[in-house]
Amino acid sequence: MSWKRTHHCGTISKELVGQTVTLNGWVNRRRDLGGLIFIDLRDRSGLVQIVCSPETLTADQYRRAEKLRQEFVLSVTGIVQPRPEGQTNPELASGEVEVQVQSLQILAESKTPPFHIDRVEDVDDSLLLKYRYLNLRQKHLQDAIITRHRIVHFVRNFLDSRGFLEIETPMLTKSTPEGARDYVVPSRIHTGKFYALPQSPQLFKQLLMIAGFERYYQIARCFRDEDLRADRQPEFTQIDVEMSFVDADDIMQIMEEMIVNLTETITGKRIKTPIPRISYQEAMLRYGSDRPDTRFGLEIVEVTDAVAESEFKVFAATVAGGGVVRGINAKGCGAKFSRREIDELVKMATDFGAKGLVWFNIDETIKSPVAKFLSESEIQAICDKLGAEQGDLLLLVADAPAAAAEVLGRLRLHLGSKLELIDPDRFDFLWVVDWPLFEYNEEEGRYTAAHHPFTAPHDDDVAILTTDQQNVRAKAYDLVLNGVELGGGSVRISNKDLQMKMFKALGFTPEEAHDKFGFFLEAFEYGAPPHGGIAFGLDRLVMLLTGSSSIRDVIAFPKTTSALDLMVNAPSEISEQQLKELKLNFKTH
Ligand code: ASP
Repeated sequence: MSWKRTHHCGTISKELVGQTVTLNGWVNRRRDLGGLIFIDLRDRSGLVQIVCSPETLTADQYRRAEKLRQEFVLSVTGIVQPRPEGQTNPELASGEVEVQVQSLQILAESKTPPFHIDRVEDVDDSLLLKYRYLNLRQKHLQDAIITRHRIVHFVRNFLDSRGFLEIETPMLTKSTPEGARDYVVPSRIHTGKFYALPQSPQLFKQLLMIAGFERYYQIARCFRDEDLRADRQPEFTQIDVEMSFVDADDIMQIMEEMIVNLTETITGKRIKTPIPRISYQEAMLRYGSDRPDTRFGLEIVEVTDAVAESEFKVFAATVAGGGVVRGINAKGCGAKFSRREIDELVKMATDFGAKGLVWFNIDETIKSPVAKFLSESEIQAICDKLGAEQGDLLLLVADAPAAAAEVLGRLRLHLGSKLELIDPDRFDFLWVVDWPLFEYNEEEGRYTAAHHPFTAPHDDDVAILTTDQQNVRAKAYDLVLNGVELGGGSVRISNKDLQMKMFKALGFTPEEAHDKFGFFLEAFEYGAPPHGGIAFGLDRLVMLLTGSSSIRDVIAFPKTTSALDLMVNAPSEISEQQLKELKLNFKTH
């Protein structure tokens, strides 16, 4: 009899009662009740209970069943039957039935795994990563990887239906302009020269527009040698898109349609459209973040004007020095929080970089360590602006605008989760637009591109491109979901003179610009269409749509936060022979 399956484990249901089926899969669990052996058999589709009894198996076969251990690979043939009364399992799709085994083959034995596939809470992460192929047998990881496939499939179909072409771009290339450190690969043929792995396909996708392909996409692997955080990997995947003969609105519109349809398909939730848009300036002002979580309120309010002339030195001096005074109304927290909890907030604010945190507890009389320094009308104005009511707690920060935004933004997030204001089932999308074109790099003492150097400035700001960098707005947009940046892009500069001006604003001499991007600049002399694009971080998108807590859960073979692959043991040394061929020598210090 053939060992090959007729059905998948998770599809065995009441409709099949009485039928003979052959299943292939792994032993998920085995219970020997002495005279009856129950096995949960697992394949990609799910689990089904199979029953081995000496009455339906030959003695030889039953002995085989007694030998079975966790993770053995089996082929079983048997009859689908209803489970006895009281033994159904509503948590399993196949929970109303079981398969009475008539013949059984062991396709592969397994050593005892280093951890139980389903019980990994106390298992060290490094062990899970070393045996990733076993960890991947766990249902939630398998589901996440399967959903990742469905997401990519959806994106491909959507983009194909809108005339986008999937085009691959090189992996062995030259430094690309995302501003991170490159991973480099030594060339054997060209001694002393190196390829760089792409930080993104940015230059190539723009060149594809100049080549006339009009609509491009790629599920593109990108590499950035940065210090890693929990939600970063040294190699990651982007849904990378570029379009010709469009403006920012066209790009946002079609991408919005893709992401909204995708989210609705994967999560089954309805998403409100159009996705709201907010300028970068307003996001920083109201949420203290360039990727606001809009699932809850606690918005930041500007009170600078009300206290500019105050006797209270901290406020007046900050405002005189170009700073601001802003605050949050923590609704109901005046009545709710103990003095210790308020002190904790003060400590937290200073940890976030604030010089202090001024608070007002709105009771019958207003309690505040600074109340005596402020006039009644000033306190009234603060209360009015923040909409204070009995029982509220007002939290104020006086600082430079960016510092005040940062501290209050972080306090807002802290309070949002402490007060359980965030509905985890909500999907709040937001476009953040009108980004600054430049950001000031303190270390290098110069302006760098906030996005990348090919992002177009706002038409109205071209005149101040090289004179007032701080105030130049970009035709750039980011899509944010629940406080996480999903992706970003921009309309590109498509004319060489403007591009050269941009390089000048970034402090490049014409020679330096040519040296780095000469081939790219030259292409703009041969008819570059107006174009723009965007890239979404696929790993993050899958993480959010699957409700996973880490991007590691949605990448089949992730690396540790120190960029190690513990399974294949990479990076690793290479042989003397390889080093010789590459003519590489290492200094040990
Ligand atoms: N290349 C950009 C990035 O990786 C995205 C874009 O501008 O399309 O962030």
